Amino acid sequence: MAGFIEEADRGQLSLLPGSLDDWVGKDNPVRVIDAFVDGLDLKKLDFETVDPLDIGRPGYHPSVHLKLYIYGYLNRVQSSRRLERECHRNLEVMWLLGRLAPDHKTIADFRKDNGAAIKKVCGQFKTAAKGVLGVDRLEAVADRGYFNGEEIKACDDGGITVTLPKPMTSGAKSKGRFGKQDFVYLAEENAYRCPAGEKLTYRYTNEENGQTLHRYWTNACRTCPLKAKCTQGHERRITRWEHEAIVEAVQKRLDENPGAMRTRRETVEHPFGTMKMRMGATHFLCKTLPKVATEMALCVLTYNLTRVLNIFGVEKIMEAITA
Ligand code: SF4
Repeated sequence: MAGFIEEADRGQLSLLPGSLDDWVGKDNPVRVIDAFVDGLDLKKLDFETVDPLDIGRPGYHPSVHLKLYIYGYLNRVQSSRRLERECHRNLEVMWLLGRLAPDHKTIADFRKDNGAAIKKVCGQFKTAAKGVLGVDRLEAVADRGYFNGEEIKACDDGGITVTLPKPMTSGAKSKGRFGKQDFVYLAEENAYRCPAGEKLTYRYTNEENGQTLHRYWTNACRTCPLKAKCTQGHERRITRWEHEAIVEAVQKRLDENPGAMRTRRETVEHPFGTMKMRMGATHFLCKTLPKVATEMALCVLTYNLTRVLNIFGVEKIMEAITA
């Protein structure tokens, strides 16, 4: 076809690069996936079959599947059957897996059986991201629908400072009585001050649903003129979670920075839109909530990876990961 760019002759003999490594450029993101997964302690993250079995045919190391899934979700190939095909025809995947090519059932089983561990990998990437950014803590802003004491504590432990408003769902408040927010915690005295100015002192601690809870009340309730607006029982009792201070700090941060929620509203749809587009804007491939949560974790992980790659480039991330 004269006048157009000419294709190469398929029969032409050529001198190909000698090794698989020569086909994958130094700035290829696949190198980041490789270095990131190799740097993880998969046993500590609770991946299955990290140690070889004593009997039977040798299996694949979990790092093989984890690399394959991260590559797949980064490149819009989420299905195990399509990932199996990529193992046979995609040079980047061949490089990443050292030419291993698991079948689709083995690939799918890995995602099914390692959901909790894959979610932990998400957290590990945040640690790597902090290294790239050169910071000790990350900041996150969420809306009140995500308010969960355990999750807030997990973020705090993981070096993420969270800002979000507390949900106003007090049952007492909805019935016209004082809510917990009307009681002020006095940290030095380990007591609460109620709307009548009385002090609810610490009484005892017990465990409920795995949480350690402290209980407070006062004997002044029986003669209190505000009792009808406070409780229908003998006295009003206030419960305090052992890590409640972390939760209170979250609300305090928001009070000091009221513009945070506006910033969130302006920026939050972009990540969701990008993730939906990358997934094909259709549906999750797995069924049941835990498996969908695993897929979501892979989506979030690869979204974060893409953002860091776009902002800092492969070279800087490789330096941080391998440091
Ligand atoms: S009923 Fe008890 S807790 Fe409630 S305002 Fe009166 S003294 Fe305070």
